[in-house]
Amino acid sequence: MSAPTWDNILGEQSCPLCLFTWNDIFRFFAQSLYTWVTEETARRALAARDGCCHCHKEELRRISTQQNLCDIYGPMTARALEMFAVSEDPQAIARLGAGFDCPACEVRRESEARHTDEFLERLREEHFREGYRASCGLCLPHLTNVLKATNDAEQREFLITAQQEQLLRLQNDLAGYAEKWAVRRRHEATAGERAAPRVAVEKFASALGQWPGRTTQGQETI
Ligand SMILES: [Zn+2]
Ligand SMILES: [Zn+2]
Repeated sequence: MSAPTWDNILGEQSCPLCLFTWNDIFRFFAQSLYTWVTEETARRALAARDGCCHCHKEELRRISTQQNLCDIYGPMTARALEMFAVSEDPQAIARLGAGFDCPACEVRRESEARHTDEFLERLREEHFREGYRASCGLCLPHLTNVLKATNDAEQREFLITAQQEQLLRLQNDLAGYAEKWAVRRRHEATAGERAAPRVAVEKFASALGQWPGRTTQGQETI
């Protein structure tokens, strides 16, 4: 997928905020990987933050070669050994592996806040509203963020009504796909039905922390 824009995002059958955020995180990893591999100071800075959280470590692993991972995790391992040499404090040990200060999470928070504001701004346009209503909509975690970010009662009502319609469509698509799968007619499934299992998983848990849409497309044709 090329870089998402507000003009093309609603046709993607994924939560728009997930896609924008994922794109920012991908760009962050693509740019950071180079400095982590080539610059000792950048590797040490990452090690000082105790690396990535459980979700973003997968994204790091996917774009890294084995050699990259050796370069990146060498200083982190050294730091852990230094800590064990001077302390047996359980809290310090827990912190080493928890990714509390994950740099990709920082990118995620910034990206989500910025795109939430943009989304609310776009919702003032009738044309965008129509497109949003017909799309699979926001995932529930991002819907929660957006509802918290607006005091506009009319916007909130629109978002809740749209989400109900989107969930109903998803329910029908899941049932339609399951039925066609059962009678070996899944080739007759619509694009919406084929995407429904992935869309359902992303609807409840967001598409973050995985390679959304682009690399899970394979699942839709299995
Ligand atoms: Zn989302
Ligand atoms: Zn993270």
